[in-house]
Amino acid sequence: MQIPPFSLSDQISEIGEEVEEAVIKVFRSGKYIGGEIVNNFEEAFASEIQTSFAVGCNSGTDALILALRALNIGEGDEVITSSFSFFATAEAITSVGAKPVFVEIDPENYLLDLKLIEKAITPNTKAIMPVHLFGYPFDMDQLMEIARRNCLKVIEDCAQAAGAKWKGKAVGSFGDIGCFSFFPTKNLGAAGDGGAITTDNCDLARSIRELAIHGMPKRYLHTKFGYNSRLDSIQAAILNVKLPRLSKWVSKRKEIANYYIDELGYIEGIKIPSIASDIDTCHSWNQFVIRILDDDKLVSDVKGNKRDLFKLELQRYGVNTIIYYPIPIHLQPAYQKFGYVEGYLPVTEKVCNQVLSLPIFPEMTFIQQSYVVDKIKNIYANNF
Ligand SMILES: *Cc1c(COP(=O)(O)O)cnc(C)c1O
Repeated sequence: MQIPPFSLSDQISEIGEEVEEAVIKVFRSGKYIGGEIVNNFEEAFASEIQTSFAVGCNSGTDALILALRALNIGEGDEVITSSFSFFATAEAITSVGAKPVFVEIDPENYLLDLKLIEKAITPNTKAIMPVHLFGYPFDMDQLMEIARRNCLKVIEDCAQAAGAKWKGKAVGSFGDIGCFSFFPTKNLGAAGDGGAITTDNCDLARSIRELAIHGMPKRYLHTKFGYNSRLDSIQAAILNVKLPRLSKWVSKRKEIANYYIDELGYIEGIKIPSIASDIDTCHSWNQFVIRILDDDKLVSDVKGNKRDLFKLELQRYGVNTIIYYPIPIHLQPAYQKFGYVEGYLPVTEKVCNQVLSLPIFPEMTFIQQSYVVDKIKNIYANNF
């Protein structure tokens, strides 16, 4: 049996016909940019997140860039964020001319360590950019308190967290701006690139809308240097079909995650993900990330670390996994010029060497799930 890390094509039996109809409707209208279909999606998405506004754009990365620009963050400013994320989080900060300030993560939930955030604040700090990594919602009560006390803006990176809730409230509705990605593998995926920002602030929403269309508040009047970053009508049409199913799909992911946790939790040597203790706090399980704890002897004996060996073993059984993320952002070649060296963020670096994402997607069958579990148990039963 071959188990993929995720599957995008399995959705087709459920939504294929509706998607076809929605897409052909766009073709018939001839309205590919803007218009009612995009407006409808923006309204529906704002209502899903419970913010006053949602503005579509071309990608999650653009959502982050537009958010930073709308808050006038640029040259000379610092933004506190995590090095354990997809590269785009820090890349967006760097691309507007500001400096990402990387704070160590909490090894329990892989999110920015709340205790360390305040120590990283300087007179140049303008914002905090928490990442709801893998779909695990940040403690937004504590984060917003820190932000308020220090007069900082908050941009939530919700790219992996569509459907996640902190104490009953959707992520993306706490900070000044929430940034979402509709990249196909995210919980709410388009058929290509797409993104959106959410906010309650009408000026920010307007500013982002203008920046996303060449800094153009009125046709052919350009007040800023902006971008060409829109959510296409075809993507919006597809997202309109998918959005009403988001919470059902997240529940499916949660069932799979609970099964993995029940079955794998007792294996010594595997760290399963922490789950939120609050009943109204909902992890969106974009990824199910375990850590393969290594005994140092083995690491020095073999080429590669224990996680890499484990990944290979699983692959031999047909269980395909992905490492999110093998290299922390601060150690990426692109950030070399800032002078980071190994050991700068020991927890983040260690976690990057141990993490592995198991297959998880809403359409995953129980046979597939139990196959993954059996193989993992087999590997550990053989003195791995
Ligand atoms: C996917 C992702 C992004 C970027 O989104 P794109 O739509 O691919 O540009 C940003 N941050 C995180 C945490 C992501 O996972």
